[in-house]
Amino acid sequence: MGKILFNDTIIERKKIIDIEDRGYQFGDGIYEVIGVYGGKLFMLDEHLERLERSAKELQLALPVRLTILKEKIVELVSTNGLHEGVVYLQISRGVAERWHQFPSDDVTPVLVAYTKVEETLSDAENHGAKAVLTEDIRWLRCDIKTLNLLPNVLAKQKAIENNAVEAILHRGDIITEASASNVFIVKSGELYTHPADNYILNGITRRKIFALCEKLNMKVNEETFTVAELLRADEVFVTATKLDIIPIIKVDDTIIGDGKPGDIVRNIVEAYRHSIQELVSD
Ligand code: PMP
Repeated sequence: MGKILFNDTIIERKKIIDIEDRGYQFGDGIYEVIGVYGGKLFMLDEHLERLERSAKELQLALPVRLTILKEKIVELVSTNGLHEGVVYLQISRGVAERWHQFPSDDVTPVLVAYTKVEETLSDAENHGAKAVLTEDIRWLRCDIKTLNLLPNVLAKQKAIENNAVEAILHRGDIITEASASNVFIVKSGELYTHPADNYILNGITRRKIFALCEKLNMKVNEETFTVAELLRADEVFVTATKLDIIPIIKVDDTIIGDGKPGDIVRNIVEAYRHSIQELVSD
């Protein structure tokens, strides 16, 4: 289980959540999941920038300065000896008597972070996996990484019940993202993914794919696409922290492409693994 970060202090893991914590009662808070490979944190600065943005959008004051937080996260990973896994970090608006409106200014937000051992799903990454389609029933600020994940929980459960790794979400006819990952399709050699607006979370892995595709001379179009375009795509894949890149070879009952991970996604997986390798050996 290891130790946890509680605001700016690393302590033994114990029961610290108060029944009137606003994260617990309202989902009033934000979080980040940061990948750890070979004991190194992947794209930590980008995760912290997104955390800062989520906090700002919800008028939530960060209880710890980002420079200190960064040091503490690195320390937590080394204290717990985490090699492969993730750091889960959340900040709630704090502990206060239960009223919907923000509590008074003397209530300070509560930050907790812990480490979790997690392996990359290399079998799915190599051979591809199945996804299901489901309606996107979330609110209209999916760009904020909040603790409110009930629609995502229900969507993922539907995927698992259908032996799939992910549930791809559509708002009407438009594919937005998946329950816990971003979605890309390949059509005539070019990539398409939903623009980073209020309908999706701008994934850190998604941004890494953009950078890798630039190096590989592959064009990524930040354009919406429809359910029919997804089902007719040459290739489909999803991306997320530690899940990395999973080729999707079947969506509901429709086989994508020739039912195997395509050349483009395989090249991107290769480049992604290479960048992880660079981090680990750095
Ligand atoms: N969209 C949603 C809804 C997610 O929950 C996640 C994973 N946190 C992502 C996209 C992918 O984001 P990232 O690459 O930063 O993990």
